[in-house]
Amino acid sequence: MENNNQYITDHFKRPLKDLRISVTDQCNFRCTYCMPAEIFDKDYPFLTKNELLSFDEIVRLAEIFAGLGTEKIRITGGEPLLRKDLDQLIARLYQIDGIKDIALTTNAVLLTKKAAKLKAAGLNRVNVSLDAIEDEEFGKINGRGTGSQPVLKGIEAAMKAGLQVKVNMVVKKGLNDTQVLPMAKYFKGKDVILRFIEFMDVGNHNGWNMETVMSKKDIIDQIHQEMPLTAVEANYYGEVASRYRYVDGGGEIGVISSVTDSFCSSCTRIRLSAEGKLYTCLFASQGHDIRKIMRDEVSDNQLMMEIISIWSRRKDRYSDERKEGKPLKRKKIEMSYIGG
Ligand code: SAM
Ligand code: SF4
Ligand code: SF4
Repeated sequence: MENNNQYITDHFKRPLKDLRISVTDQCNFRCTYCMPAEIFDKDYPFLTKNELLSFDEIVRLAEIFAGLGTEKIRITGGEPLLRKDLDQLIARLYQIDGIKDIALTTNAVLLTKKAAKLKAAGLNRVNVSLDAIEDEEFGKINGRGTGSQPVLKGIEAAMKAGLQVKVNMVVKKGLNDTQVLPMAKYFKGKDVILRFIEFMDVGNHNGWNMETVMSKKDIIDQIHQEMPLTAVEANYYGEVASRYRYVDGGGEIGVISSVTDSFCSSCTRIRLSAEGKLYTCLFASQGHDIRKIMRDEVSDNQLMMEIISIWSRRKDRYSDERKEGKPLKRKKIEMSYIGG
């Protein structure tokens, strides 16, 4: 299917540009704010093989999205590197006409083994999640007692393989706010952009309240006092991170301020969950069951019409509404199903 570069737009005229694909709901970590071990235990009803979208189904949908103008794909999870033969999926996505960029979000524990193969398959970029540099702190957060070394080794392997690497740190007050400076110091001067993410109220189990959010302003102020920073222009429309550069030439950092400075007006993303539901917002309660439609043997054209209909009805602006103080109590999809 050809990419005509005519984006479809939603109710607020936002174009559909990015597709995020979760390839598994399983993870080798139990980050306390994402998949707390006491809930995601051995009795948790993880998806069965038949419930997961197959590679054929994912590729079919990606082709339809590319035909509607989507150029960027991000693979996520759960932990996407747990999905068997992920490089084969990436190689197939890379072949799709119109797909210009394939990225991966990962905790990087398995990256040392897999980076070169993924790069060869067509992966361009990885975002590695690392919430603390000190082993004890990190071990507590990831719920598995794993220190930062395996992640740092994964980052090194990715860079060596020629992948662009960004590191993402979610900052939750009382959990890892004391790691902001150590992380900034560690990555300063290395060829890696470190981005801080404000802790969000995704899912239903992470004990979020406004007091747990360290704001973009506080993060930047704290770093700036020790290592002066200057603001940098956004790279492109819809870029979610505010960019800053060290004045002394030590590189760049970013902050994703979805809570204190939301960016719904330029949100161009749709999310495909591991079991084939489409979500038009990270905070949605309901997905659109595209797997069911697909398994009912509909044509590509019918699937495309369904996607157009879902996107054109989209009115989501949850983070803007949160900022405006609107009541937002609702049951939400878990982050491990749609991957951030
Ligand atoms: N397992 C992979 C990883 O950790 O990179 C991919 C999936 S994970 C759900 C994607 C990203 O979502 C991670 O960077 C994680 O830190 C972030 N995340 C999870 N819960 C979050 C929350 N409540 N607020 C902000 N970011 C969150
Ligand atoms: Fe796993 Fe990523 Fe969630 Fe941590 S943030 S539990 S690594 S899915
Ligand atoms: Fe996009 Fe929803 Fe996040 Fe707003 S809250 S930026 S609409 S995902």
